[in-house]
Amino acid sequence: MQKLLLIIALTCSHINLGAQTKVMTSFFTKNKAVVITFDACESITPSYFDDSLVQLIERQKLPCTIFLGGKFARRNEQKIRALNLLPYVSFGNHSYSHPEHMERLSKEQMITEITRTDSVIQKYTGKKSVAFRFPAGNYTNKALQVVESLGLKTVHWSFASGDADKNISAFALLEWLKYKTRPGSILIFHINRRGWKTAEVLPKYLSWLKEQGYLVKRLPDVMQ
Ligand SMILES: [Zn+2]
Repeated sequence: MQKLLLIIALTCSHINLGAQTKVMTSFFTKNKAVVITFDACESITPSYFDDSLVQLIERQKLPCTIFLGGKFARRNEQKIRALNLLPYVSFGNHSYSHPEHMERLSKEQMITEITRTDSVIQKYTGKKSVAFRFPAGNYTNKALQVVESLGLKTVHWSFASGDADKNISAFALLEWLKYKTRPGSILIFHINRRGWKTAEVLPKYLSWLKEQGYLVKRLPDVMQ
């Protein structure tokens, strides 16, 4: 009986490992480098870009990938078209209506969530999205397979920055980022006005990265 349980446990852990290897949460690098990503989600409440962050991206020529929800993208067409002119900015697909448990939808519904968003991104940028990111990071092996069947790789993050927490202080957010950052980290922030202290903390964090000798790379460049 014990042996059987052990086999089941090993098999299950193997299945979990298999699922995790398909989601990119960091990248291999010999040098000190990180990738910066922003989520631009919209589910029920109309959402807009955090203009301070958009200005920061432009001012610092910050290489970054913005994961766009389809509804968010349609509401913010002009800003997306403007950001698309910056060669260091790329766009990812973050579903259409941002269902918190997209993995519980039917296969057909998941395909619609992804393809509707991809066509909006394609229309505004002339490019296919560089990767997919599940709303709230919730996925199953089956949901991952749906994403992959559409030719997209799933990219999540190395650690939650916590910037969507209304109660986090700027000091705590910065210290947390400094404590958790490693070579190959994929950072996640919110650019839909849900990153309450992000615009205040990000310039300080970018200065710290520079002092520490970190480069900020483009996600498409580390995905090969
Ligand atoms: Zn989101």
